[in-house]
Amino acid sequence: MVYTKNYYRILGLETKSREHLDQDDLKKAYRTALLGAHPDTASASQGGQGKNEVYTVDDVKEAFGVLSDATQRVEYDGWIAGRGVEEGREGFLLGLEVLDLSDFVAGEDEGSDAEVGGNGATGPQVEWTRSCRCGNEKGFRITEKELEDAEGRGEKEVLVGCEGCSLWVRVGFDVEEG
Ligand SMILES: [Zn+2]
Repeated sequence: MVYTKNYYRILGLETKSREHLDQDDLKKAYRTALLGAHPDTASASQGGQGKNEVYTVDDVKEAFGVLSDATQRVEYDGWIAGRGVEEGREGFLLGLEVLDLSDFVAGEDEGSDAEVGGNGATGPQVEWTRSCRCGNEKGFRITEKELEDAEGRGEKEVLVGCEGCSLWVRVGFDVEEG
């Protein structure tokens, strides 16, 4: 799992006290956020530049999914506390192993094997995987989309959590000009 989004902001809860946030608050915020969300990523990314950020329905669902799950929320809060959201990446991050993409095995996402078409259709998604010490062969997984999203925010690093255990690593990447 790679957290690259501010789920509290997506749900409009950024200024609320997180300790007292309960399921009812979350559900209310979820419904409100859904009403204001865009149905698809394309229109959101076209319209959301500069002014008020516009989130997609998927963003909102993802945010609610994480924050309404006690285990995931604790993990996410830990990540956010370490990252300071917009500020430095101190604390928790300092304890993490730092890798870069060359430590991962590049491959194509087996789930999508569509050929590159004529009208700007995307080809197979490139993904990078790495085995974890817990034994999960592809415990760490980064998709091209996640890198592009991070790049879009001017970031040069993503956090990746193992799918099989609670281990996190930091992965730096260089974006090739193209
Ligand atoms: Zn693991």
